[in-house]
Amino acid sequence: MIGSPTDGPTAVVYDIQRLSLNDGPGIRTTVFLKGCPLRCAWCHNPESWERQPRLAYNEALCRNCGECRRVCPNGVFVHRIDWSLCDACGKCVDACPHEALEISGRELTVQELLSELETDRPYYEIGEKGGVTLSGGEPLASFDFVEAFLMQKGNLHVCLETSGFASSEHIRRLSPLVDLFLFDWKISSTAKHQKFCGVDNRLIMTNLRLLCQSGAKVLLRLPLVPGVNDDQEHLSAVATLLKDLPEIQGAQILPYHSMGSAKETRFGLEGRTLKMPDLGLEQAATWMEKLQGLGASNVFF
Ligand code: SF4
Ligand code: SF4
Repeated sequence: MIGSPTDGPTAVVYDIQRLSLNDGPGIRTTVFLKGCPLRCAWCHNPESWERQPRLAYNEALCRNCGECRRVCPNGVFVHRIDWSLCDACGKCVDACPHEALEISGRELTVQELLSELETDRPYYEIGEKGGVTLSGGEPLASFDFVEAFLMQKGNLHVCLETSGFASSEHIRRLSPLVDLFLFDWKISSTAKHQKFCGVDNRLIMTNLRLLCQSGAKVLLRLPLVPGVNDDQEHLSAVATLLKDLPEIQGAQILPYHSMGSAKETRFGLEGRTLKMPDLGLEQAATWMEKLQGLGASNVFF
């Protein structure tokens, strides 16, 4: 559903994951917004990079009946799918008799999202207080929407998962509105961050310090990617960071998994992300012990 200009800012939501247990305290609903200024080589949601909705194709369900080719106004389906011609109009989705196609991403207003979340409220009261986590992509790429959402959320507990790569003015404005920032710290070396994420980490560090000084609650999230950031230099820098910024409540290790590369065929994004085996919990435990050995406390996975 597309909101009219009078309905306020909109964001493109590509997934709403219910009963999440790993995106902040308690039972949560994680809302994934499209749009991100980074291009992390290990990203497990590459379909979230662009803000606009995107066609998704499930090869296993396709019976090659040709209905999509018949209705597509842009000639996307010839001998293969030419993703560059698709404008996500959705005609082929309606025509496909085998549910092999869908559009990932729909534009929502704040009120539309809040009313979708309303039914989940009873879950948030079970055990430790849960709530909603705004994730992405990079939710701050939809700043107007996120700020309006936070101003209208009432007593909903909201976590914001961010790369920290955003306007410092925006970070300052959101600081008092967010209950807990889940702040990614990906790679400590500036040059390596540029190489593997498409931007360097100086603005991210500025924004992390700004949040800590502002009194916001911050949990660091540490993606662990073999061959990218599983080196002693990064581990030592993380331990130092945690000592320098005692306001950070803790650090959560996120071991690499290969979901991003598995999605490449579905979204026509072949070759965009790294391909390697999933990491087990043993490797995360080893990393945790190394960090603890370097003096870091409150590290978990
Ligand atoms: S979404 Fe529209 S433009 Fe894209 S392939 Fe389907 S019919 Fe063609
Ligand atoms: S309409 Fe669906 S099943 Fe038929 S060729 Fe297109 S994607 Fe495949």
